[in-house]
This record gives sequence, C-alpha cells and structure tokens, in this order.
Amino acid sequence: MKIIVPVKRVIDYNVKPRVKSDGTGVDLANVKMSMNPFDEIAVEEAIRLKEAGKAEEIIAVSVGPAKAQETLRTALAMGADRAILVETDAEVEPLAVAKILKAIVAEENPGLVILGKQAIDDDSNQTGQMLAALLGRPQGTFASKVEIDGDSVAVTREVDGGLETVRLAMPAIVTTDLRLNEPRYASLPNIMKAKKKPLDSKTPADFGVDIAPRLKTLKVSEPPVRQAGIKVPDVDALVAKLKEMGVA
Ligand code: AMP
Repeated sequence: MKIIVPVKRVIDYNVKPRVKSDGTGVDLANVKMSMNPFDEIAVEEAIRLKEAGKAEEIIAVSVGPAKAQETLRTALAMGADRAILVETDAEVEPLAVAKILKAIVAEENPGLVILGKQAIDDDSNQTGQMLAALLGRPQGTFASKVEIDGDSVAVTREVDGGLETVRLAMPAIVTTDLRLNEPRYASLPNIMKAKKKPLDSKTPADFGVDIAPRLKTLKVSEPPVRQAGIKVPDVDALVAKLKEMGVA
C-alpha cells in the first residue's frame, strides 16, 4: 500500500508574523519557513505505518514555490521514499490543492492520504475534507490514533468532551491532530541520503487544474496591542478589581 502525505511550506511556528504595511498579507521577506507542524506529524505517522509493515511506499507532495523542495527533502530525510513538487509561485487555495491532490491520487492509487488538520499560515482546515469530498472517499479528521486492520482503518478523533473512533474503508483520507505522535528529527546520514531520493517536478497545468483564486483577501491586520497590566497587593484587591471589571 502507498501513503501520500501532502506537506506545506509555511512560516516557521516560532516566528512572530509581521503584517505588510499596506495590509494585503503577511510579510514573508527573509522569514524562516518550515514544514507545517501538523504535516510533520502526518509524515511521522506514515513512517510508523511503514515500519509496522502496513505500508510499502510513502510519497510526499507539496504545492508551492521551488523552495518547497526543501520541505520535501525534510520529509524524505524523515523517511518518505519519494516526492512530488507541484510548482507554482501563486498562492494556492485549499480547493485548488485538493484538486491537484485528487489528480495525484488518481495516478498513484494510495490506500491512505494523511494530511495535517490545518496549515498554520491560513488555518483553513479545509484541504483534507475537500479532497475526501472530491474523491467520494471516507475521511477521519483530527486523528489522535490511526490503526490499519485489513482493508479498513480505525481513526480515533479528538472531539468536544472526549474521543470518538470511526472505522473507514480504505482508500481513505486522514487528517492529523497534535497528539497523534511526536515527529522524529531527521538524522544527518538520513539528510544526506534524502538528497538522492527521487523528487519529481510538475505544474498545476500538468494536472489540468485551474488554480485561479476564488477568494479575495480584503484586509489583514495585526492583533490589537496588549494593554499594560497592573499589580494588585493581595487577593481581596484582585477580587475587587475583577468585580469592577465585571468578570467576577
Ligand atoms: P489547510 O486546509 O490549508 O488548513 O491545510 C490542511 C492540510 O492540507 C495541510 O496540513 C497539508 O497537509 C495540506 N496542504 C494544504 N496546502 C498544501 C500545499 N500547498 N501543499 C501541500 N499540502 C498542502
């Protein structure tokens, strides 16, 4: 069985985003970029399934600029077998990514596609769900446990107030939550080996997908600046202050 893992190159989670002065988006000039953290979890899960003998090949896919090759090399260094870059400098919305992934799924016939539950740059939380809908295949989102049993996969999901387990007939779409696993770091020898692993380059046009944006960003603004706090001498003063503010 093959597993496809879509990985997105995003602003590093440690970087504090700066909004462009004209309010059109986030300034990415000279900013550290990394693999979306939920996608690292997806790559790790695919590797664990392969190590457990449940999968034979892991294919990492990224839709983005030429630099997204670095993200794919990271996935290869972690343990993916080969990679596909669908190169474009345009900003690609979840629907367009899902359409491209649908075309790749048609070519590769994977048993599972494991995506992150969301990309931390746009927080869309849409691509996996859209892909499942386009393919007409079952989905297990926000997975905190994934267990393959024959032709089906049991996905434990983190829902309000507890855990829900669903069983999906494969091929299926899974999206990862934070507590699914702790991704490994790529070792130096594996980083070297990853340079020799196959990385295919394609374009959205190769898959006949129109990536023209359907959405228009009206404005991006910084969150309001935090007001300075005050120090209170004791608990009574704190309670009095909270009452004054209407929160106690
Ligand atoms: P989103 O729907 O944008 O929050 O993204 C959810 C997941 O879809 C991510 O965690 C990735 O696994 C995948 N994804 C989204 N955009 C891309 C992209 N440009 N290239 C590869 N995978 C992507």
